[in-house]
Amino acid sequence: MSKQMILALPGDGVGAEVMPAALSVLRSVAAKRYLELEIHEALIGGASIDETGSPISDETFALAKASDAVLFGAVGGPKWDALPFGERPERGLLVLRQGLELFANLRPVQVFDALADASSLKSKLVSGLDLLVVRELTGGIYFGKPRGIETRNNERYGFNTLVYSESEIERIVRVGFESARKRSLRLTSVDKSNVLEATALWREIAEKVAADYPEVTLEHMLVDNAGMQLVRAPKQFDVIVTTNMFGDILSDVSAMLTGSLGMLPSASLGAGTQGLYEPVHGSAPDIAGTGVVNPLAMILSAALMLRYSLNAPDAATDVEQAVARALDAGHRTRDIALGAPGETEVGTQDMLQAVLEQLAA
Ligand code: NAD
Repeated sequence: MSKQMILALPGDGVGAEVMPAALSVLRSVAAKRYLELEIHEALIGGASIDETGSPISDETFALAKASDAVLFGAVGGPKWDALPFGERPERGLLVLRQGLELFANLRPVQVFDALADASSLKSKLVSGLDLLVVRELTGGIYFGKPRGIETRNNERYGFNTLVYSESEIERIVRVGFESARKRSLRLTSVDKSNVLEATALWREIAEKVAADYPEVTLEHMLVDNAGMQLVRAPKQFDVIVTTNMFGDILSDVSAMLTGSLGMLPSASLGAGTQGLYEPVHGSAPDIAGTGVVNPLAMILSAALMLRYSLNAPDAATDVEQAVARALDAGHRTRDIALGAPGETEVGTQDMLQAVLEQLAA
């Protein structure tokens, strides 16, 4: 296999602490599986604003465009909170998502056996849970026009537009079907087709695309019911595909089933294999620099990158199993520590070492 290029963007706060951990794991698994990786690093977010005046420089964007995959830490922090919306650190991430046309956001929600007690739900409801939320990321009500706040007849009106074209729906629903095909052949498409025309079209297109995937069972669910079912019996789901706004909400609900933000990876994909991989959490300024941040969400994001962009599923599984075994051995960062017998509370570095040892075992 030829050399694959990765752009690492640590960003701000704990992003700069979890990225080195993920890169150590990546280098280790690359050596084990004979993968040739060329890793570049660049600034993004607040760190880039401080250095270049912009949350993402043209050079960084060009590097991202030329890469097979982008590994992204986190951006933002109090230092930059007073900047106008378009100049803030988060802008760097939006520019990447839009510029690389990453329209599909994949959020796996997996409850590791060792952490079932960390969930807000009873452990019997979540133990063994493994679902995937596929969220449309570049369309829908977050981007639709017209939008704004206007005064009409001496009263202010706030308005947004929920709009989806057939092709936008089809490409994201296909990502749902392709994902279901690689998993347990079940797909739940979530909409509000009884009230919103845009999602009635969504349902119609999902039915049409289903004809190309006869091996996958497609089910439709209204979003209010989906929210209820996710906290009632989450294990009924395997892959969920939905709109930008519904996905935003349902993926956070699903995330909390696992008990900690520090465990959740995500992938954003476009039409090809290029993707952007990042932990779900932010820059956590409250714990930045204290050595306690959980690096596992970032490490698991690197595993997703190996699977989806670098065509190295065995290496991805190696990393995921090493994480599971480090947890089974009782290593816990503060955010996932329950104080149970057999647990050892560790910092970022020791958790990394535990994963590296399991990877080498
Ligand atoms: P956050 O995710 O940074 O933190 C929320 C809470 O979870 C904090 O108490 C934090 O200490 C804890 N936490 C988060 N990740 C953790 C980890 N890996 N290990 C242990 N504990 C962890 O969200 P926030 O506090 O709302 O936002 C902080 C900053 O991050 C803001 O500037 C926000 O804009 C930014 N943010 C960036 C992204 C991104 O880069 N994609 C996403 C969300 C928030």
